[in-house]
Amino acid sequence: MKLSTGFWQTYKETPSDAEIPSHQLMIRAGLIHKSAAGIYNYLPIGYRVIRKVEQIVREEMDRAGCFEILMSVVTPGELWQETKRWEKMGGEMLKFKDKADRDLCISPTNEEAVTDIFRKTVKSYKNMPVTLYQINTKFRDEIRPRFGLMRGREFTMKDAYSFDLDKEGMDKSYQNLYQAYCAILERIGLNYSIVEADAGNMASAGAQTHEFQVLAGTGEDTLIVSEDGSYGANIEKAQTKRAELNLDKEVKELKKIETKNKSSIEDVCTFLNVPQSYALKSLVYEWIKGEESHFVLVLLLGDDQLNEVKLKNFLGADHVQACGEKALRDLGLVKGYIGPFHLPSNLTVFMDAQIDEDASFIVGAGEKDFHFQGFNPKRDLKDYKKVDLRLSKAGDLTLDGKIVKESRGIEVGHIFQLGDLYTKAMNASIQGPDGKPLYPMMGCYGIGVTRIVGAAIEQHHDDKGIIWPKAITPYQVYLAVIAKTDEVKNLGEEIYQKLISAGFEVILDDRNQGPGFKFKDAELLGIPLRVVLGERDFKSKGTLEIVERRSGEKVEVKPEELAARLTELWDKCQ
Ligand code: ATP
Ligand code: MG
Repeated sequence: MKLSTGFWQTYKETPSDAEIPSHQLMIRAGLIHKSAAGIYNYLPIGYRVIRKVEQIVREEMDRAGCFEILMSVVTPGELWQETKRWEKMGGEMLKFKDKADRDLCISPTNEEAVTDIFRKTVKSYKNMPVTLYQINTKFRDEIRPRFGLMRGREFTMKDAYSFDLDKEGMDKSYQNLYQAYCAILERIGLNYSIVEADAGNMASAGAQTHEFQVLAGTGEDTLIVSEDGSYGANIEKAQTKRAELNLDKEVKELKKIETKNKSSIEDVCTFLNVPQSYALKSLVYEWIKGEESHFVLVLLLGDDQLNEVKLKNFLGADHVQACGEKALRDLGLVKGYIGPFHLPSNLTVFMDAQIDEDASFIVGAGEKDFHFQGFNPKRDLKDYKKVDLRLSKAGDLTLDGKIVKESRGIEVGHIFQLGDLYTKAMNASIQGPDGKPLYPMMGCYGIGVTRIVGAAIEQHHDDKGIIWPKAITPYQVYLAVIAKTDEVKNLGEEIYQKLISAGFEVILDDRNQGPGFKFKDAELLGIPLRVVLGERDFKSKGTLEIVERRSGEKVEVKPEELAARLTELWDKCQ
C-alpha cells in the first residue's frame, strides 16, 4: 500500500471512551472506526489483521479435520423455540420480525442452526463423526459493550460444533479441538493459560469445559492458578480451601449483645476486637427460574465473599440477585443485622462448606442494633444445607494443598462438551451401528477472532504504539522515504516494487511529510520492520536504515543487501 494514495489516517487524541491500550491504539492507529456502541467498521489495515487471524484459525481447523461452512447470520425463531432458548437467551439476543410477522434473530451463537443442518444431512453412523465450523459475524446486545473489539456487540467468532456417536468420541473431538486452539494461540504468539471454566447449569455430570485466557492485567476475567501451574480455573468455577482459618473454637452460650449502629462485619468485629472470621456473614438472595422466584439465606465466614455463579448453578436458577433494602423489608428483615434468627419460613439456609459447625460465631440477631455471640451452627441451627459457595482468593490452597494466586485474563476461546442436549431437544437422531436410533453427542468450540486482535495488542505494545506479533501483522515492512528530489523518490518506489516482488508485504510511506511525522505513525502502527530511505544518508553513504520495532535496534544496509537483511531480521522477529 502506498500511503500517498492510501486510505489511512492516524489520530493524536485518545477517544474518551477508550479505557484500555488496545482500544485506544486501534482507534489512534486508524484500524477501526466506531459505528455505534460496541459496533465497529474495520478499515483497510485493521481488516488485514482480522483476516490474518481468520486465516490462522482456518488453517488449524482444517488441519484438525473440521469442515468450514457459512451459516446464515439471521436465524428463524422456530429453531430457538425447539430448545426453549428463544426466551432463555434473554436480552443479549437481538430479536425482530419479518414482514410476515415471523420471529427472527441475529445469531448470538449457532447450536440450533448447526443441529438443524446436521439433522437434515446426516442420517447414519456411517457419516460420523463430523465437526463443522464457520467464521462469521455474531451479535450479542451486551449489557456493557466496552474495550473496543474486546467486548463488542457485533463481532467475529469462529464457532465449531462436533457430532460424535458416544461420549468417548466426544472426548476425542474435544481433545482434538483443544489441541487446535493451542496451535492457533501459539502461532499468533500469545501468552495464554487454559483454565477450567464454569459450565453453567447446561452441564451434565462430568462434562468438560475450558477457557483459553490470554494473560493481561486489563483482562476482565480473574483466574485462580496454582503457583506450580498444575491447577487453573476461572474464579467463577474455582474450588479451593482456606489456607488459614482463625476460628473461635470455644463453645459458648448464645448471648445477645448490643451493637448499636454496627451494621457491617468490619464494624462489629472491630467493636468486639475479634478477627472477621469469628463472625458469619448473612446474605439474602433472590433466585429466579422461569416464572418462579424464591429467597435463600447464605452464611459465609465474615472475611469470605460469595461466588454468585456457584449459587446460581447449585440452585439451577436462571439468575440470582442480592436482595435490596426494600425486598429485605418486605421479608421482615433488617439490613445489617440479618442472621439465622427470625427468618421467614420460606427462606432456605445454605452454609458455606468452609464453616466449621462446631465453632462459635457472631451473627446478626435479626433485630436492629443487636447481634448474637456464641452462635454454634450444630447446636443452634436446624435446617440448613452445606455447599461450596465461597469465592476463591489468592493465598488459598487447591484441594490437593497447593498455594494459588490470582491473575487476570482475556477469554479468547471457550470449548464445551454439550452431550446430547441439543440433538435430543431437536430430535436429531441418526441410525446407530446396531440399527437403533441414537442421539449424537456434541461439543461446541468458540474463538473470538476480533477479540484476539485486541488481546494481542494488550500483550504487545509500548508507550509509542502497537508492536504486532509477526504472525498477524498487517504488513511486514514499513518503507519510509524521506526525500526531496525525484531521483530518491523514484528509488523509493523502485525499492518498494522490488520488495513486493521478493514476497514482502510492504507499506510505502511516500507522503509529503517530514521524518518525525512518518516515524511517529510507523511506531504507532507497529509494523515489525521499518526501512528508512533518507536522502542525506543515501547520498553521503549510499545506505538505508532498518529499524526493528520491538527492540528499536538499527542497522545500515546497502540497497542490494536490503532484501536479504530483511529476510534475516524477519526470521528473528517474534
Ligand atoms: P464472555 O464471558 O467474555 O462474555 P462468553 O462466555 O459469552 O464470553 P462464548 O459464548 O463462549 O463467550 O463465545 C466464544 C468466544 O467468543 C469467547 O471466548 C470470546 O473470544 C468471543 N466473544 C464472546 N463475546 C464477545 C464479545 N461481546 N465481543 C467480542 N468477542 C466475544
Ligand atoms: Mg458473553
